[in-house]
Amino acid sequence: MLRLDGVIHSYSLPGGATLDALRGISLSIEQGERVAIVGANGSGKSTLARHFNGLLLPTRGDVYVNGINTRDTSQLHTIRQTVGIVFQDPDNQLVATVVEEDVAFGPENLGVPYAELQDRVTEALDAVSLVSERKRAPHLLSGGQRQRVAIAGILAMRPRVLVLDEATAMLDPRGRRDVLEILARLHAGGVTIVQVTHFMNEAALCDRVIILDAGEIVA
Ligand code: ADP
Ligand code: MG
Repeated sequence: MLRLDGVIHSYSLPGGATLDALRGISLSIEQGERVAIVGANGSGKSTLARHFNGLLLPTRGDVYVNGINTRDTSQLHTIRQTVGIVFQDPDNQLVATVVEEDVAFGPENLGVPYAELQDRVTEALDAVSLVSERKRAPHLLSGGQRQRVAIAGILAMRPRVLVLDEATAMLDPRGRRDVLEILARLHAGGVTIVQVTHFMNEAALCDRVIILDAGEIVA
């Protein structure tokens, strides 16, 4: 489902210097796997996560999503539909003033017809147990609930792969537990899950753990 071949990612720094955040990453993740990515701050986890759906392109090497090279910009729509990413801070991901409108935003932009849109929003809110909050304003919900709205917004696009970049880091234990329950259900339903995390108990729930250090896979 995801394959990286010798991926190097260099950021350009002011003054003309470059920083190699990924130094030759090769890995593959099968459909239905649940994989954790762990490593110290600055080891390249977020940079790696952003390669999984073409938000970043490799400086060298290639990334394939279900066989499609992320360099193929004509396929960007398909790539983004296949792999959804949830980030750390829900407030940077919510765009509307009503929960159900927020969840509808992604699929609406994919051109999903109105009748189907309603079904998708209900299904996604049901997956995160927030159907009862659909008419509410996201800013009146708890942090954990807002992150669940952000997850619902991605689920409404029906991705085959869900990538979470420290998506539980800002949540309290209750909010974290709720998100982990959702992930377990999605995984049981066949969704491929990639979790960037620094919680070892979360990594322990995965089939496989990839450890990054200074832009390289060390284990
Ligand atoms: P992690 O998520 O593991 O903390 P990151 O992928 O965010 O690691 O960062 C890896 C390295 O790349 C770090 O040294 C970081 O400072 C650097 N970096 C990340 N984003 C940028 C950017 N936009 N421009 C320049 N350097 C960056
Ligand atoms: Mg990070």
